[in-house]
Amino acid sequence: MEVSAEEEINQIEVGKPHVVILGAGASYAAFPNGDKNGMKLPLMNNFVETLGIEGLIERAGIKTTSNNFEDIYSEIHTKPELESLKQELEKEVYNYFQGMELPDEPTIYDHLVLSLRNKDFIATFNWDPFLVQAIRRNGKRFKLPRVLFLHGNVEVGYCKNGHMMGNNGGICHECHQPLTPTNLLYPVAEKNYHLDEFVSRQWATLEDLLKHAFMITIFGYGAPVLDTRAIELLKNAWGKTESRNMEEFEVIDVRNEDDLTSTWSPFIHSHHYQIENSFYNSWIANHPRRTGEAYLNQFMKAMFIENNPLPKDVDFEKLWEWYDKLQDVEDAQKT
Ligand SMILES: [Zn+2]
Repeated sequence: MEVSAEEEINQIEVGKPHVVILGAGASYAAFPNGDKNGMKLPLMNNFVETLGIEGLIERAGIKTTSNNFEDIYSEIHTKPELESLKQELEKEVYNYFQGMELPDEPTIYDHLVLSLRNKDFIATFNWDPFLVQAIRRNGKRFKLPRVLFLHGNVEVGYCKNGHMMGNNGGICHECHQPLTPTNLLYPVAEKNYHLDEFVSRQWATLEDLLKHAFMITIFGYGAPVLDTRAIELLKNAWGKTESRNMEEFEVIDVRNEDDLTSTWSPFIHSHHYQIENSFYNSWIANHPRRTGEAYLNQFMKAMFIENNPLPKDVDFEKLWEWYDKLQDVEDAQKT
């Protein structure tokens, strides 16, 4: 019993979401040498130097042993006398990420969004604009996954009256008020995401989604040790490890497998997980737009499945042609 790539392409059966959680490591993996204009992607432990905000941090005069930016920000946040400096810092961070741009040729971000369907979700911790830019340039032709922004995002604004989220700088379709930019920085040590009306809704949606997902992919998210609130929310959303039944858990990360297993062991149950060190080895890249069907065939029906790897080195014209045949099958099924 084997399922060929051709059979996989022609099969649409799964309505449950595949949920992808993106962290800074995903953007770093996509652009190790920087964005279109060479702007570097910071990680939390080189954030201050990469953004060139050493002077600001020095002026804050805080004594910290940590070089992790989230820790430093949390500390500044506790000091009311540093309020104006805090605002300056927030503006610097916002401007830095807002200036970033996807390169013109297809990137991991394009491959990622093209490889999921509209029933699927990408929840990102990243502030950079790459996910939104990828959705924008591929979304004219394809039905793409929906997105959640767990720490806010420079490309996103939301209606204060709760009607919608959309492009930063846009207008609400309901009440015609300008959309409000999202905050980017949260004092993670205080565990108070719930106080921010935008991100609290994003987290609530994610919590609900995780109850229904057939597969969860964690791509380059390395913060759970520090972000205790995030871990708590994920744990609650997932329920007790021993009470969950079948779903698959995949981690894409360059860190070594032992590190990752210990980080994620509270979530991973039995043998239903795999760890990949490259996006292109992942379930998503090998079963584009059919991750659920491949899951069903391999894990529920116990069949051998052939991979259908996305063409990672072709230009947009060829790439879109390749994905057209997948979407054509989806469109034909909707009657
Ligand atoms: Zn509105």
